[in-house]
Amino acid sequence: MKPTSVPASPPATHDAGSPAPSPGAAGRIKTLVILGASGDLTGRLLLPGVARLIASGRAPGLTLLGAGSDDWTAGKWQERLTNSFADALTSEGASTADGIKELQRVQQGSSYQELDVTAKGALGGFLKNVQGPVALYFALPPAVSQKACEILVKSDLPAGTRLVMEKPFGSSTESAAKLNATLAKLVPEDHIHRIDHFLGKSTVLNIMGLRFANRLLEHSWNGEHIEKVEIVFDEPLTLENRARYYDHAGAGRDMIQSHLLQIMAIMAMEPPATLNEHDVRANIASVLRASTVGRGGSEDLADHSRRARYTAGTIGDRPVPAYVDETGVDPANDTETLAEVEVYINNWRWAGVPFILRSGKALGRSRKEAVVTFKPVPHLPVGFTGTDSPTRLHIGFGPATLSLDLDVNGPGDLFTLDRVQLGAELASDPLLPYGEVLDGVLSADPLLSVRGDTAEECWRIVEPAFAAWKSGEIPMEEYAAGSNGPANWTTSND
Ligand code: NDP
Repeated sequence: MKPTSVPASPPATHDAGSPAPSPGAAGRIKTLVILGASGDLTGRLLLPGVARLIASGRAPGLTLLGAGSDDWTAGKWQERLTNSFADALTSEGASTADGIKELQRVQQGSSYQELDVTAKGALGGFLKNVQGPVALYFALPPAVSQKACEILVKSDLPAGTRLVMEKPFGSSTESAAKLNATLAKLVPEDHIHRIDHFLGKSTVLNIMGLRFANRLLEHSWNGEHIEKVEIVFDEPLTLENRARYYDHAGAGRDMIQSHLLQIMAIMAMEPPATLNEHDVRANIASVLRASTVGRGGSEDLADHSRRARYTAGTIGDRPVPAYVDETGVDPANDTETLAEVEVYINNWRWAGVPFILRSGKALGRSRKEAVVTFKPVPHLPVGFTGTDSPTRLHIGFGPATLSLDLDVNGPGDLFTLDRVQLGAELASDPLLPYGEVLDGVLSADPLLSVRGDTAEECWRIVEPAFAAWKSGEIPMEEYAAGSNGPANWTTSND
């Protein structure tokens, strides 16, 4: 049966009597300082995101400053801005005429400062001349960010400063706690933005809108009716010259420890009273505190997590070398490129329901979705034939889509069950993911930022599995690049 397209419903209007979801313009950031301005993240993702945000008219009056250890001239910084802003100046998307003028103004007023952030007093001295409130974006190697924060003192920071921390946030529960303690000496928790660019506003709000604005769904959103939830981020991209980072992270740390656990928590959280960051982030934290890989005992980890690495293959018509033969990879690091963990949320709503989180590289297809599989009906009237398949809800994250697989009476023979898929496109924000995240930072709203305690919880959840991988207790499996993973790793779509 062909998919039936159903238009997405219009966005609900905000009830004037309820609390506003964001703190508004009160603490709006005046200056964005990017530390690590000559780096890859800044050029490829951050500046294009900033540019789209400004061009959309949503970041009025901003000053943009770059700083880094490279000896860059003003001309070289302007060249980087010109290259990174080009797309926002020409793309139709969300840009407005005033926004584009604003972007040109921001570029003209932007400057670069050579600065070693690990030299005592250097960053503090630089900040003395910067107009606050400031958002200080640490687009630096994690160890450099840590050191820079350790030598900063509270009095270095203009009033209202926000610290923006990139992933990975620590490398274990212990190191994340240490970094949290360092940051807590500088600014209050709600002024710390731990970035997870997968938590774009549209992704988070689409899940919450679907769950909490539809009585039909929320009613059955629990272990009584749901068999399992899969959250899958598979991509055909390979290492793409990122061995320096990825060969020490792997699919588990790169994707599952951070992004997929956060998405799981939003899928599983209790309904918040408001969309205020206090309510939403408290409910996210409560889910993560209750979560374990497997049912909590280390003895069953082998049944609840697995890992694999790609061998040589072909993706489309592109030959791909084995991961271990990619430039910069050290096979001794034993890095996985595909990982899966089965998480249980040990509370009343979800006891016994597996949340299967899976992500990998060099796969034959791009698949970014959450799939909710419902339990079978308790009794199918005798007389129906055909396949009685479970009801499934798919929430697509790229592109943002929704589809519901249902059994209906087939054409021709009404006694035979057939499958139908109802589909809708979900709203997406024309801002790039980093534009969405920066929108929250610049408007001083930590709703989409990872709270300190949940950053630690995410490490605590996966650490037993990572230890079992490291010790060899769970063997490294293999799959050919361009395949859908090892043959026995099936998911609901296979
Ligand atoms: P790069 O190595 O490309 O850039 C790091 C930047 O930091 C460089 O500009 C470097 O300058 C600067 N730097 C290093 N030491 C100092 C110092 N003491 N004082 C001032 N500046 C310094 O890293 P990325 O841009 O790739 O990554 C930055 C952060 O973003 C990391 O935490 C990473 O995990 C995270 N991230 C990166 C992504 C990406 O796609 N690149 C994606 C998601 C997160 P110099 O060149 O002179 O050393």
